[in-house]
Amino acid sequence: MYLYYKYSTYLKEKYGQKTYKLPVNLPLTCPNRDGYIGTGGCSFCGEEGAGFETLPSEFSVREQLRKNREYIGPKYGVELFIAYFQNYSNTYLPLEKLKGYIAEALEFEDIIEICLSTRPDCISHHYLKELTDFIARTRPEINLSLELGLQTVNYHTLDKLNRGHGLAEFIDAVLIAREYQVETGVHLILNLPGDDLLDVKENARILSVLGVDNVKLHALYIREDTELGRLYQEGSVDLIPLNEYIERVITFLEYLSPEIAVQRLLGRAPEEKTLFANWDHSWWKIQEMILREMEKRGSYQGKKYDYAGGKALKRFME
Ligand code: SF4
Repeated sequence: MYLYYKYSTYLKEKYGQKTYKLPVNLPLTCPNRDGYIGTGGCSFCGEEGAGFETLPSEFSVREQLRKNREYIGPKYGVELFIAYFQNYSNTYLPLEKLKGYIAEALEFEDIIEICLSTRPDCISHHYLKELTDFIARTRPEINLSLELGLQTVNYHTLDKLNRGHGLAEFIDAVLIAREYQVETGVHLILNLPGDDLLDVKENARILSVLGVDNVKLHALYIREDTELGRLYQEGSVDLIPLNEYIERVITFLEYLSPEIAVQRLLGRAPEEKTLFANWDHSWWKIQEMILREMEKRGSYQGKKYDYAGGKALKRFME
């Protein structure tokens, strides 16, 4: 039974075979940490800048890709890869420096795509034009894609989280990326304190009308070394129960365009220094609960995607 459009299916359709991401960590930071946009970072962000479970950035890009490919390739029977630069804000680097790192990835014949994880305010026309031109000159068959950290479309929540950007910068980044045929993925957290079910629906609605390419959902985890961790230990963070998270994911998928691929329904957290994660359940168990509930209800991605393209005018078409 079709429940949602899996990213793995999308990649298979696009590249004709199973394609996996190989994570790469670079030695960099983020403008919301180094003082340019803000200090201290987003209130939930730990020291790794969302880059745990990867090889350390002291390894060269070449070494990280080689080691990860040696491990992932045979384990999952995969022969085609995406170099996924995943920690902090990868486009918050001088262009020439990032080009140097990307050049190392382009040496691998079985790498077919470069994916850069970043913040919406680290995307500009000049930067993307330079990057796409550079890749086209070196390996014209290689695609460039972005993963933009948004977390929520609720700009009041973004402000409370000390994100240092609002919704407008995200929309701007998606529109700029489209001009250079750069695909966009979006990271969202559906259980942020302050967000309700209406925000969850609006997340799906805005991503759908903007026509982003894929989305990756996370459930919020709380780290000891963060501002949110401090507030949590103080008892001033309200978290929704697991059954409500399940409800939110199902609602999100129902409002999401069926054309947007979904990378995952929730993420994992590092074990050390984590105060709260996934309601003390394993991620796959919660995923199973979501899928079973969807089957029970006859729910599927796009079930409520009826609002785009002049909904009120549909009456004249009947
Ligand atoms: S933008 Fe990303 S890397 Fe920077 S502080 Fe926020 S979550 Fe961390």
